[in-house]
Amino acid sequence: MLLSLVIPVLNEEQTLPITLGRLREVLRDVRWEVIFVDDGSTDSTPEMIERIAAEDAGVKLIRLSRNFGHQTAITAGLDFAEGDAVVVMDADLQDPPELLPRMLALCEQGYDLVSPQRVLRESDTPFKRWSAGLYYQLMARMADQKLTPQVGDFRLYSRRGVQVMRSLREQHRYMRGLAAWCGLREIVIPYERQPRAAGYTHYSLWKMIRFAWTGISSFSAFPLRLSIAVGCVLGLIGFTYLFIVLVLAMAGSNLVRGWASLIALQCIFSGIILLALGAIGDYVARVYEESKGRPLYVVAEARNLPVHAMRVPRAVILCDSRPFSASDGGFAVPQTSVSAEADSEGRDRACERPGIIS
Ligand code: UDP
Ligand code: MG
Repeated sequence: MLLSLVIPVLNEEQTLPITLGRLREVLRDVRWEVIFVDDGSTDSTPEMIERIAAEDAGVKLIRLSRNFGHQTAITAGLDFAEGDAVVVMDADLQDPPELLPRMLALCEQGYDLVSPQRVLRESDTPFKRWSAGLYYQLMARMADQKLTPQVGDFRLYSRRGVQVMRSLREQHRYMRGLAAWCGLREIVIPYERQPRAAGYTHYSLWKMIRFAWTGISSFSAFPLRLSIAVGCVLGLIGFTYLFIVLVLAMAGSNLVRGWASLIALQCIFSGIILLALGAIGDYVARVYEESKGRPLYVVAEARNLPVHAMRVPRAVILCDSRPFSASDGGFAVPQTSVSAEADSEGRDRACERPGIIS
């Protein structure tokens, strides 16, 4: 059984050697390969992987043309992973490699998804722990597919699991939601999330909020329906208020006294209407972006992977894979770049073979 590890990397030069060392230690008795997906690093991460890949054919590299985001980098890795079992994990050792043999054993028992669940998040800030708990509770109520709580992107997919995941080509990707969508046989194993081995997190608070919203809007139409309910309730309150004002006017009360409350209500209502419009606008924007049908990512470079021979829908592959040669002196810029893009049914749109980088 071949185990493929998919590791998205963005500026991980500090963590990479440590992670690889730990993996080699833990996976001594396992047949394995690792696919690093470089998601637009600006430090020496890709060059470092290249050097390692030159000596070890089991270390593979897919270099995306720019930063496409963590979820898309995972997608690219899953697209090219050939193992009988594929594990997605972070490069920073927050997901302990020591769990891998157990996960593999469970896959051999017939589970399609093996999902390590974070039982302790000591390494996270209290705010992150609190917000994550709240988020999973919210998602449990709202989402069409039930997400497994406290399970991130660290997961094992069986070959069947990978096959289903590959077929899901939407632009706004929320991998844990897509995994839940598959409906395959899943087992959860508890683990303790570790602190980062080195470097810094690439998820700022703003990025976390955007990611959380992608999860909600991709798997729930509840916010849209909520705006209808809120609108009805507010309309009812407005009419009741109007009725009271009319009664007071007929009773001869001084209406100017109500002016302040009227303005306050006006502000509240306008705010809520704008909020609801914003939510609707966001869903419309997502439909718009999806309707463009753009490729999900562009592969600019690959090492030790026959990327040109693989049919990947909604992706552009600009390069031929080749083993590293010392005379390269770093990355080559693709000279001949022919798209090996395929349409949604997997047929090649470009008839030419991908160009060989000189
Ligand atoms: N990462 C990536 N693209 C991004 C952001 C992150 O490939 O745009 C990678 C990063 O190198 C790491 C993993 O995704 O291997 C998880 O990121 P990070 O550790 O920064 O997130 P956190 O664990 O803090 O949520
Ligand atoms: Mg991390």
